[in-house]
Amino acid sequence: MGEMWNLWHGCHKKSEGCQHCYVYRRNAEFEKDSNVVTKTASFNLPIRRDRQGNWKVSSGTLMWTCFTSDFFIEEADELREEPG
Ligand code: SF4
Repeated sequence: MGEMWNLWHGCHKKSEGCQHCYVYRRNAEFEKDSNVVTKTASFNLPIRRDRQGNWKVSSGTLMWTCFTSDFFIEEADELREEPG
């Protein structure tokens, strides 16, 4: 098992492999522009704590990330500087 973490959303079609991208297909259903990269509500998930001060994601948890974006997408560079 593991924890899913979509820290930002949005991507750009860069290759033939992106032709049938599910992100674009799903966003089209909601008339959402997939080219716009935005921070998600779970952006700071790895540094969140519960009321007792424990990390919400414990050390050693396998993290699955960027299901709806590219981790290295340029627009996210400014987000990488944010503390959370
Ligand atoms: S999410 Fe993957 S398939 Fe979709 S546009 Fe980005 S890189 Fe291409």
